[in-house]
Amino acid sequence: MNCRCIQRALLRWFDANKRPLPWRTEPRDPYRVWVSEVMLQQTQARTVIPYFERWMARFPTVQALAEASLDEVLKMWEGLGYYSRARNLHRAARHVVTHYGGALPRAAEALRALPGVGRYTAGAIASIAFNQRTPVVDGNVRRVLCRLFARADDADIWALAESLLPEDRPGAFNEALMELGALVCTPRAPRCAICPLRRLCAARAAGTPEAFPAPRRSSSTPLVRVQTAVIVAGDAVLMGQRPAEGLLGGLWEFISSELRDPPQESLAMMVERRVGLDVSAAPATLLGETRHAFTHFRLVRTVWLLHLDAQPAPTRKHGYARVQWVRLDELPQLALTRSDRRVWHMAKDVMRAAP
Ligand code: SF4
Repeated sequence: MNCRCIQRALLRWFDANKRPLPWRTEPRDPYRVWVSEVMLQQTQARTVIPYFERWMARFPTVQALAEASLDEVLKMWEGLGYYSRARNLHRAARHVVTHYGGALPRAAEALRALPGVGRYTAGAIASIAFNQRTPVVDGNVRRVLCRLFARADDADIWALAESLLPEDRPGAFNEALMELGALVCTPRAPRCAICPLRRLCAARAAGTPEAFPAPRRSSSTPLVRVQTAVIVAGDAVLMGQRPAEGLLGGLWEFISSELRDPPQESLAMMVERRVGLDVSAAPATLLGETRHAFTHFRLVRTVWLLHLDAQPAPTRKHGYARVQWVRLDELPQLALTRSDRRVWHMAKDVMRAAP
């Protein structure tokens, strides 16, 4: 297949049809490209836009991000999910300030040495911000290329993406492939009739564009059950901060623990084990269940509301970096997971309705 025809058709279409996204301001700023590419992982552009604009208003430069506290960074990220992305951005910004004077390195290999920057992100920054001839392959690019060449699987897809890159405008070409996958060559019902590559596309010629690439065999995602205690005393609620490393690291949560199978640990035993408080005599109200889907598992939380008369100091912080009473009016300032925000809404509704 003629690479030049693909390049010309795709770039012409991109120039006329690309969305005016806030990270596409000219000249391209490497920091804005980097932040947008990290935010866009696993997240749609329309969701990312308000987060990106708030982030840039608060952390307009690598330097500003490096000087911020992790708590503030996580707070700005709250609701976007996959919080390791925010922690890695923060660590990488400090690395860039210390080792590169605040300017991102231009080469993909140097970019890949930064925390959280993999092959995809390094290729995107190097090509889009620095016009380097480096390929990118995300879900959209994979789908477009598999269809264009009628490939059932994505073996050698990176080499194929690299072979198609033009000498000039490699970054625009990468963005154009991603944009085509997002707007035209969609997973279901691709809009072949308006596609700039329709005359070159092998899957369309075969009459079965949706058959490419072949679906991956899905494995069932495991279910994790957690019990949660919203412990309220007067005008404060007891909160635990998760350790910086690991899933949802650095975020705050209501005192919780996974229920093993069979679930032998009572709520009071769990609270005792995690924070060293005896809540066995406190009245407990069942608030209900919340459900949340992560990439590798589904989470179901059973949520209880407990009222204490006083605010005893926690004597243990098993599995938490910090445990402390937080005033109810200060809770909105803490970085919580989306699931914990839902838990708080449930608790507030019941507390408001209480006589
Ligand atoms: S012609 Fe259809 S299947 Fe082929 S790249 Fe375009 S939208 Fe995708």
